[in-house]
Amino acid sequence: MRKNIVAGNWKMNLNFEEGQKLTSEIVNMLKDENVKDVTVVLNPPFVHLHSVKKLIGDTPNLFLGSQNCSDKESGAYTGETSAGMLASFGAKFVIIGHSERREYFAESNQLLTEKTKQALANGLTPIFCCGEPLEIREAGTHEDYVKNQLTESLFGFTTEEMSKIVLAYEPIWAIGTGKTASSDQAQEMHAALRSHIASKFGEEIAGNLSILYGGSAKPDNAKELFSKPDVDGGLIGGASLKSRDFVEIVKSF
Ligand code: PEP
Repeated sequence: MRKNIVAGNWKMNLNFEEGQKLTSEIVNMLKDENVKDVTVVLNPPFVHLHSVKKLIGDTPNLFLGSQNCSDKESGAYTGETSAGMLASFGAKFVIIGHSERREYFAESNQLLTEKTKQALANGLTPIFCCGEPLEIREAGTHEDYVKNQLTESLFGFTTEEMSKIVLAYEPIWAIGTGKTASSDQAQEMHAALRSHIASKFGEEIAGNLSILYGGSAKPDNAKELFSKPDVDGGLIGGASLKSRDFVEIVKSF
């Protein structure tokens, strides 16, 4: 079954107290306002994982995720964090291939395959990000560009493995810029990606695949974006740092 998912990406923001406050507020709002039928994921920086997990407790439909994981299982990789460690802290999701990781840390499609393998081997759901830069959108080759990211990173997986992956389409020109893709632009790309997945893994896997939109999603545009048939939720950056905004986005289905 295709799930509606809203995942918050805190990026490298918030100190310990701020992270605790934000998490407590979100937990209380989700409980008090009886939010249902949406899978909600908090993806804080690594150092927050333990405390955020404790605050999440047994809140229904609220899960812990990470913003990244290593492509290696374990060993002498100073500064890295393995998927197995994340799972042992209670994480259920991991963002893989965010455009900031691709751009600032030179993460290639091949490396992202290895990270996705590690996530799957440790029972984490990868939120696999893809998306085009502005010049590719302006050249009109965005669909081929993004499909190629999926082909190179994901087409070596089995059907069963693919059934455990979530996609996030994040046009780079819309991330943190206040410039959202229109709901029609998002729908067009999501539909294209779903049919691309279907061409390799079949209609059933593609039909059950959750594809999230990311890029300046806010409470005032989330309803319109989520109303589109192939938009199954959002990966939320800036607005995930404000409890009320984030919860309003969660309630936008
Ligand atoms: C993101 O970082 O994944 C993102 C979508 O950021 P923002 O919502 O701030 O554009």
